[in-house]
Amino acid sequence: MDSDAEPPKTLTTRHKCSACFKQYKKKEHLVSHMRVSHHSVHQPKCGACQKHCKTFESLREHLTGPLAKENCSRIFADHCCSLCMNFFDSQASLTEHKEMCTLPAPAPLGTLVTPCTDYEVDISASDNEYYARSPKAVALDCEMVGGESNGMPIDLCARVCLIDEDENLIFHTYVRPEVPVTNYRYEITGITEHHLRDALPLEEVSERLLQILYNGESIGRLRWDGGNARLLVGHDIVHDLFVLKMNYPDRLVRDTAKYRPLMKTNLVSHSLKYLTQTYLGYEIQSGVHDPFVDCVSVMRLYKRMRDQNHHLEELGKSIAQNALNSLPTSLNSLEFEKLESMTPDELFQISKSDYKCWCLDSRAELKADDELHLGEGSGGPVSNQESQAWPEWPQPPELKSLMTNITWS
Ligand SMILES: [Zn+2]
Ligand SMILES: [Zn+2]
Ligand SMILES: [Zn+2]
Ligand SMILES: [Zn+2]
Repeated sequence: MDSDAEPPKTLTTRHKCSACFKQYKKKEHLVSHMRVSHHSVHQPKCGACQKHCKTFESLREHLTGPLAKENCSRIFADHCCSLCMNFFDSQASLTEHKEMCTLPAPAPLGTLVTPCTDYEVDISASDNEYYARSPKAVALDCEMVGGESNGMPIDLCARVCLIDEDENLIFHTYVRPEVPVTNYRYEITGITEHHLRDALPLEEVSERLLQILYNGESIGRLRWDGGNARLLVGHDIVHDLFVLKMNYPDRLVRDTAKYRPLMKTNLVSHSLKYLTQTYLGYEIQSGVHDPFVDCVSVMRLYKRMRDQNHHLEELGKSIAQNALNSLPTSLNSLEFEKLESMTPDELFQISKSDYKCWCLDSRAELKADDELHLGEGSGGPVSNQESQAWPEWPQPPELKSLMTNITWS
């Protein structure tokens, strides 16, 4: 027996990213990777191997795609919910979870309702501690018919629906467009001339909507945290606001078409129909689109994302994560050397998300910190201009020392 065989010569040190497990031959390449990856506790994560993914779509690929990791995909099949991809250690808890996670499709409102209904559901509830801390969310959806402007086809808002977090209808109306309708798109909208004859004028509708959304706050002087104003949830809500001729502050908007983890891996939006089927488990928009069903689905998606349990217990960590984000685009050699001397774990510790995670909506005490650094946004990329307008967040002493070890100039 050849007992003193030499070890294989191909063994080289690999530098492995603590979050996504990518490996690099050179440490400097790992540092460069960390500076653009924006890994954070908010990223979707494999329950088996703990790998961080950019989006839920890439996590699904990792677990069930053609190139899925074998071990993870086996664990997924036995221990994970196929909708939310959360991991459970026992069959009992998985079964119990699935009953909660799988929701029935909401009953459609139909097209036979009265032209305008203002339900006046009291959702201000300022005496309730939870509501006082976190703004209440409402979901909005419009149905659009076709019109024309300067010979070009345009969308006209013909129907609006607004619901609260508990899926109660707050406001529903048909809308009389300002210009003649050229195409009712009946197969999709179910709307006819008859629905719009006595409908509310567009101006009145947007006025009423803004009243509900601002909820007593002054439009011109909205407090940074939004005060009593409501979070507006929707899918591609920019389009709805456009046809309603309304503005609403970006920081109070939660758009399921723009929320990074729900987008395609190449950062293109998914349709609400796809998201509802994939993450809620039922079909919508198979015939006439129902604004109530769409509202409920978008609200359910928002709440699922808001209820994600990301480990933010270490407030310090979320603050430390700002360091990498605040790195200048070009590093001098000394700064680079300091980053290179850090372990992969330490590099991950100072890496920070570049979008606002919705889990922060349920964590008012952390929200302030997050918004100071991330600026406004509906889950999309961070606007630097906005975050620069806000003062530096005070750092706890132990982090200060960590960060003074790395002096960014
Ligand atoms: Zn990575
Ligand atoms: Zn989060
Ligand atoms: Zn895995
Ligand atoms: Zn689930």
